[in-house]
Amino acid sequence: MPERLPQHKHCLNCGKAVAPSKEFCTEECETERIGMLRRKRRQLLILYVGSIVVLLLAVILSVVQF
Ligand SMILES: [Zn+2]
Repeated sequence: MPERLPQHKHCLNCGKAVAPSKEFCTEECETERIGMLRRKRRQLLILYVGSIVVLLLAVILSVVQF
């Protein structure tokens, strides 16, 4: 029979059980998670800017041809 665990949440970074008032098990986990989200956001921004640049280039090239 599995033991009944007291109310708890799981660390948002590594999934370990933590107290319900906490989001992360350690400060390192919190820092790691924030860094990961920041990297993800950066990648998304680069993708977004990159597609706009490609679109602009396509528009400019098609205008220049005429
Ligand atoms: Zn953790």
